[in-house]
This record gives sequence, structure tokens and C-alpha cells, in this order.
Amino acid sequence: MAEKSTELIHGDLVKKDPTKLRLKPNLQNYEQLRKTFKWSDADKEVEWFPGGKLNAAYNVIDRHAKGSRKNKIALIFDDGEGHTQKLTFQQLYEMMNRFANVMKKLGIKRQDRVFFFLQRSPELYAGFLAAIKYGAIASPMFPAFGPDAIRDRLLDSGAVALVTDSDLKKRVYEVKNLLPELKHMIIVGKDVAAGEVSWEKEMAAASDKFDAVPMDPEEFMYMLYTSGTTGKPKGVVHAHKGIVQAHLTTKMVLDVHEEDVYWCGADLGWVTGVVYGVLGPWSNGTTQVGLGGRFDPDRWYKTIQDYKVSIWYTAPTAVRMLMARGDEIPAKYNLSSLRALYCVGEPLNPEGVKWAQEVFDNKPFHDTWWQTETGSILITNFPEMDIKPGSMGKPLPGIEAAIVDETGKVLGQGQEGNLALRPGWPAMMRQIWKNPAKYNECFRNGWYYTGDTAQIDKDGYFWYVGRADDVIKTSGERVGPFEVESALIEHPAVAEAGVIGKPDELRGNIIKAFIVLTPGYSDSPQLKEDIQKFVKTKLAGHAFPREIEIVKTLPKTRSGKIMRRLLRARELGLPIGDTSTLED
Ligand code: ATP
Ligand code: MG
Repeated sequence: MAEKSTELIHGDLVKKDPTKLRLKPNLQNYEQLRKTFKWSDADKEVEWFPGGKLNAAYNVIDRHAKGSRKNKIALIFDDGEGHTQKLTFQQLYEMMNRFANVMKKLGIKRQDRVFFFLQRSPELYAGFLAAIKYGAIASPMFPAFGPDAIRDRLLDSGAVALVTDSDLKKRVYEVKNLLPELKHMIIVGKDVAAGEVSWEKEMAAASDKFDAVPMDPEEFMYMLYTSGTTGKPKGVVHAHKGIVQAHLTTKMVLDVHEEDVYWCGADLGWVTGVVYGVLGPWSNGTTQVGLGGRFDPDRWYKTIQDYKVSIWYTAPTAVRMLMARGDEIPAKYNLSSLRALYCVGEPLNPEGVKWAQEVFDNKPFHDTWWQTETGSILITNFPEMDIKPGSMGKPLPGIEAAIVDETGKVLGQGQEGNLALRPGWPAMMRQIWKNPAKYNECFRNGWYYTGDTAQIDKDGYFWYVGRADDVIKTSGERVGPFEVESALIEHPAVAEAGVIGKPDELRGNIIKAFIVLTPGYSDSPQLKEDIQKFVKTKLAGHAFPREIEIVKTLPKTRSGKIMRRLLRARELGLPIGDTSTLED
């Protein structure tokens, strides 16, 4: 590993020098905007139809295709196998319109559920937006899902149409007879059987003109199932109004400017891919990179270099994997186009922030916190704000966030408790599909309980502690797994760590760590002892792992989140629950 430089790190602070930023941030003064911000002002960021109607897809594509960005590149699509396609806003617009007309021909109705089971591709982007433009409820699924995960989602949602391809459809047919409501199978590719609809044929025959359906702001735009980290995935439903906030946060947080090339690594099968890989950036008229294929450090750095990516939005799991592969790989590429880095999905270990400073020439990661349910980034490190590595940052203007106890009492600075939000922002979920009880459960004492625990420091920065279910009670103290994991991965031998509480007669629980070693290290009692000692020097005495188990991989969701409930279930011999989103 290269020598660590700490140029910008002052103790626990990454200081921002506004004069050194390449572009002036769209949000100039966070504290001031917090005082004056009104959601009604944000409504002006999007275009409305008469009578207070709007259509999210119109705002994402049409307004640019009809305006000065008509010939601007909207999508640079690299399939990960050496083929690149560039599409302008006009081209995406026409493709989207054609598919909306195909849906019309098939007789799909307003607010019908239309699902997509496709590899990332222009067809996926255009199809998804067409369904929204048409007034259906659109939903993409991870292309890596197996038959059970597919069945769960299509059955629960009552999807009437599925767009898939010649290859992926095989997995759908394993469960197709269990899906009575699924009427239309639309197939991208050559292998189209009797009873199926050929994407190619229908698209070629369809008109490229289609007027967006004016929707009530509360009508549904898309639905997505949560990652399944803590249990069975929930079908979270979002309304067209959400586009207001997708737009606003992309502008204020991800800070897109006209000349930026933006890359969001998330698949459309999870909410980051939808909100910040489709809706928000294009609503702002931004050029986006879409990259297919699997994790591959060389290809990723090459993507940044070749397409001159200036803003990159990724996930902690990816950061940890890149870190583990060493700094020699990024050194081979010219990464100077980058100006801002963002992260979401899990807590971002401070080590990741520091690493990025070195590898990306003093550009730290900005952590962003949000959920499928919240529909938009809500707590974040803004571009103009100093970063405290390990902190999620501060709430968006217009968002009241607090740490509360079970009775709704607001806790003070430094006290750990439930991360809660005052309901009422435009991108908030409107329903959990067919599960009102689950939905209502989240709202208590006038707050939306996120299911996460956190605390706030004296400067108003929020610090993630863990999932409410993951917090460990040991020797009478509460310990968040994230804190222990972050200390662990600072040890050079540790690439990844998952930490759980293991019942213990004496201590209530002890902390057990599952560790993936950095390549080049091997298991030994000395190494484990050394790691334990290392953590002891970082954290309070009780917060070190009394047990360490070396594993080859950690169980993760397909969106890359460590599934601590599986580690716990295996350790304690408990039922493992829903594993439909478990990685291979
Ligand atoms: P499920 O709800 O099915 O258990 P999930 O909560 O992982 O799955 P998502 O909606 O994809 O599903 O993820 C949201 C959760 O991810 C948050 O509640 C939080 O626990 C975690 N998360 C997201 N971003 C951050 C972040 N920046 N820091 C810490 N945790 C984060
Ligand atoms: Mg969740």
C-alpha cells in the first residue's frame, strides 16, 4: 500500500476550501438555506401540467428533448464487454415513446404494474421511463434474481406485464404458472416464442410520438422492493411527486453541473439506481454513464478515465473491494476528471474516506444516508460542508431529523437512539404494497421511525450506529456493529468485517467478528490476537471482538449490504429467513 497522506485530514475533519473546488457548489450556504427553505419552492424545479398535474418521465426526458438539450448525450452506455452506445435526450425520448405506444397496443391500464427483468441496457432505461410516462407503475428487478425472488415480486405486486430478454426469461418460466395475473411477456432479443411479444418487432412498428399522461402528483410512479437486509423485502411504492425531490437532491447534494459526466454504479433493481441513476440526473439534464457487467477494478477505473467521469456515486462495499485490491491499480489510470465522490447503502467506514483522499487526489467520499422508503437522500455530507469521516452528515433543508426513544422523546447530543424523521417530504413512500400494517408500524408519536439507530454530535453531524436489530448489548453497554467493523478494517489484514452479538452467560453478549482477510494474509492465532489488540486501542475496552472467525466471504444482499442477520442465524442455529436477495 502507498504511504498514507493526510493532507486534508485534520484530526477527524476533512476541511473544504471553497477556492479549491473546481466548480462552485449549487448549494452555497447550507445553514442559511435550512432556515428559509420551503418545499413549495422546490416544486418550481419541475414542469407541471394544467390543473396541478405532472408526469415524472416528462420531467426526466421530454423537457430536455423539446428544449436546448435535445442533442446532448443523455446516456453513455457501456455494456462492460467492449460495446459503447451513446444516446441523446432526443433518442431516448423516441425510444421511450415507442414503448409507451407498445403498452397502449397491449391494452395496459393506468397504474397497472409493469416490471422489468433486464440487464442494464438502453431498453431498460427507456422501457422503465415509458411505463412511468404511460401512467403505469414501473418496477425494475435485479437481473441476478433467481426464480423465487422473481415469483415473490411479480405475485405480490400483481404485475400484468414483464419485459425481459431471451436469456433471463428462462428463470421466469420456472415460476410462470404461479403468476395468474402476468399477461404479457415482452422479450428483448431474437428468441421469441409463441405467446410472447417481440420488443424489436413492436418497437419498429410503433410511433415515436406519445404525449405524457398528466398524473395526479399522488398517483404512483414506481415501486421497488427493499434490499432484504433485515427481513423479507417490502414493496415500497412511490408517487410522481417524488420527482421534485429526486431533482432537487441531485442538484444540491450530487451537485451536477451542465458539463458534468455522472456515473452511478447502482443497478436499477435497487432504489439508488432508479432515483440517482435515472430520475434525478436526467431531470437535471445531466450526461450519465451506465456500465454493465460485474465488479472489476480495472474496468471501473478505466470507465472513469475513458468517459471523463466527474461525479461518481457508489457504495461502501465497492469502496472496500477496491481498497482491498490495492493502490497499484488506480495508479495506472488517469482519474483527474473526477471532482466529487458520493457513497450510499451502508455506513461508509472512515478508512474508505481516507483511502479515497489518497487515491483520488484529495477528493473524499461524501456519505449519503437514505432508504428505499425515503425515496431520496435525506442526511448527507454536502459539497460545501466539511466532512467528518464516518459521519452521515446533516439533514437536507426541509427535513427534520432527530434521535428519539420509543415514546417519541427527542434525545440530546451524544445519546444513541432511533433515527426518526418528521413525515411530509415529497419523495416519501406512499404505501407498502398490500401491507398497510407494516407501513403504519413505521409511524409512531408523530415520527417516521427509520429502523436505524444513530446519534448526533455537538456540531449537528449525524453518526450511524446500526440497524435497530443489530445493536449489541455487551457487559451492560450498547455497541454498534459498524463502529467495531470500521476499527477492524483499519487493520491491514482485514478486508471486510461483519460483527454480531453472541449470547454469553457472563456478559449478556460477546462481540463476534467474521472477517475476510486481505489477499496475502493467512489465518493464525497470532493474527487474531493482533487484530483484537488493534481494535482495543481504537475503541472502548468492552467493544473488541472476543471471538474472531475468518471467512472467505460475508453474506451480502445483491445490493452489497452485509446481512448480519444471516451471520447471527448461522452462529446461533436459528432459521435463516428470507434469502431471496442473498448474493451467490
Ligand atoms: P430491508 O429494509 O429489506 O431490511 P435495507 O434496509 O437494506 O433492506 P434499503 O432501503 O436498500 O434496504 O437500504 C436502506 C438502509 O441502508 C438504511 O436504513 C440504512 O440501514 C442503510 N444505509 C443506507 N445508506 C447508509 C449510510 N450512508 N450509512 C449507514 N447506513 C446506510
Ligand atoms: Mg430497510
